[in-house]
Order: sequence, then structure tokens, then C-alpha cells
Amino acid sequence: MTNYSIEGRAEYWQAQAACASSLVSPDLFFPPAWPAPRNWGQQAKAVCARCPVARQCLRAALEHKEDGIWGGTRPHERQAFTRVKKAKSPQSAT
Ligand code: SF4
Repeated sequence: MTNYSIEGRAEYWQAQAACASSLVSPDLFFPPAWPAPRNWGQQAKAVCARCPVARQCLRAALEHKEDGIWGGTRPHERQAFTRVKKAKSPQSAT
């Protein structure tokens, strides 16, 4: 996962990330090849499921349109979430 910074400091929530542990390989969070294997990301999602900052992580991924597993979601899942959110927004009804 990318470290975002505000004035050179990592955002506070990243210090609490389950994936920040040295026991977790960053490689789990990105596809090993393209096209990605069908079940790619399951191990990363298991890490995210026990992460105390998954909500903040997902918000950052949605804002920055990141690749890889973020907040327990794959990129296409976040794209679907964004489409639903736009469809439900009051501005889309105009
Ligand atoms: S939700 Fe997943 S990718 Fe995000 S900080 Fe937690 S463990 Fe890392």
C-alpha cells in the first residue's frame, strides 16, 4: 500500500495497519501477473478483515483510485462501489 503523507508525515492510521507488520508480504496486495488469477487477493483480504483501519484505508483508495487490495476490496469492487454511490447521489438525478 502507498504511504500518503501530509506535509511529509504518514497519515496517522497507516501506523495501525495490519499490513504494516513485517510478517505480511506486500506482494499479497498486488496481482502477481496480468491478467490477475481469478482468486487473486484472498490472502490479502484475510489480512484486511482483521485490520483496525480498514475503513480509512478504503476511503483513501477510493479518493486516490489505487490498484491492488485496499480496505479488503479489489479494484473492480471499488469501481462498482463508486458507480453505485454516484447513481444514488442527488446530483445524478438531474
Ligand atoms: S485494510 Fe488491508 S490494505 Fe488497508 S491498511 Fe488494513 S490491512 Fe492494509
